[in-house]
Amino acid sequence: MAMIQRPKGTADMLPAQAYKWHTIEKLASETAEQYGFREIRVPAFEETGLFLRSVGETTDVVQKEMYTVTATGDSEFTLRPEGTAGVMRAVIENGLLNEAFPQKVYYLINCFRHENVQKGRLREFHQFGCEMVGSADAKADADVISMAKSFMDRIGLRDIELNINSIGCPTCRAKYQQALRDYFGARRDELCDTCKERLEKNPMRLLDCKSPICKEIGKNAPLIIDYLCDECSDHFEKLKKYLGLMGIDFVVNPKIVRGLDYYTRTVFEFISKDIGAQGTVCGGGRYDGLIEELSGKAVPALGFAMGIERLILTMEAQNCDFMEEKTCDLYIASMGDEAVDKSMELAMKLRDEGFFVEYDLMGRGIKPQMKYAGKIGAKFVLVIGSSELETGCAKLKNMASGEQADIKLDDSFVDNFSNALMAEMFKDIDGEMAALLGKE
Ligand code: ATP
Ligand code: MG
Repeated sequence: MAMIQRPKGTADMLPAQAYKWHTIEKLASETAEQYGFREIRVPAFEETGLFLRSVGETTDVVQKEMYTVTATGDSEFTLRPEGTAGVMRAVIENGLLNEAFPQKVYYLINCFRHENVQKGRLREFHQFGCEMVGSADAKADADVISMAKSFMDRIGLRDIELNINSIGCPTCRAKYQQALRDYFGARRDELCDTCKERLEKNPMRLLDCKSPICKEIGKNAPLIIDYLCDECSDHFEKLKKYLGLMGIDFVVNPKIVRGLDYYTRTVFEFISKDIGAQGTVCGGGRYDGLIEELSGKAVPALGFAMGIERLILTMEAQNCDFMEEKTCDLYIASMGDEAVDKSMELAMKLRDEGFFVEYDLMGRGIKPQMKYAGKIGAKFVLVIGSSELETGCAKLKNMASGEQADIKLDDSFVDNFSNALMAEMFKDIDGEMAALLGKE
């Protein structure tokens, strides 16, 4: 019988890897909350029209990568290829535009894009993102960038280069688009088919094309930075000043235009050189026109999204520390039915106090039980048989040191176990303290 396998471009997160994801998720929400962002959760699918309007009809995401589904008799939906569109839809629909600005939200989500699968490029992937609504000030851009940077510092990433650019506003972009049409128009025949179409509709998309020929032709294309209007140029200068004040290093990269249509002014990417071609771990920018496009109300906003798989790849490549997994505090090995009953009773008492406890669920003998306790990394093992039930006293074995001590199975058990566990957990610290004192 042929086994059904997972779809191409998806991944199973197995328990042995969970601590890596937990590290990212915990530090992401902690950092975001420190900056005043609160979590938002939105559906994994939306009406297709939302993405056409927000991501943009001339983008790769809309033209090539959407997973669109219809349920019988229902309208057409698309699995979210990114987070901003759905989050902004929710912000508008739930009246958050009427609340105090800036509104700040963050999310940890899965996204779906029908891509050419490569290292760091999946069809289902995950993002940590944040959006700030209501401020047009360049300080907001700097604040959002500093949050992203602070999170990456906290997970231990090094050598991540911040690239910034400004892609102007509709006013300065009109002139720029014409310059691009003239430039690429002269070599129209050589462009890929998608880009031939883009030339009319949205020539800036040509700069983001992944085909080698279009990339090559684009090398000497005019730069948006030379076409910025006074306001946009002032905004960009301020951003650079604020980043300097915050001590955040950056390079101005006039080639960054970002994949999605809705960006205005500031765009940025954080790039790692340690994970190959798909090195952009974070992309973001300002999208002052999006909320108006969706709601008719002009409200500036900005944000970023990081690819969690790419963050983990970089952390692995750089040997960063992940949060340690919790391990079992006590495994209770038992022999005989009455001893099993006792082990269940003791386990419940300890679990009520917050300890991580396991006991035999397989009906195995003592030896394989001890072996299992070793495999799961239990810190202590308690062995109960008929003589322990009789005397009311059992051996508590410290698995790291091999030491054994008697422990009573009466009402003093939980306290005594807690003391033994604390002593084990703090023994290194005690040792270090003693060494320090000894040296003085
Ligand atoms: P790329 O140029 O690599 O295709 P993008 O511009 O399409 O990226 P965004 O839409 O800005 O990416 O998404 C934000 C982040 O999400 C990216 O910087 C990346 O870290 C991650 N990401 C995007 N697409 C994928 C994917 N298919 N697989 C894994 N991570 C992804
Ligand atoms: Mg892409």
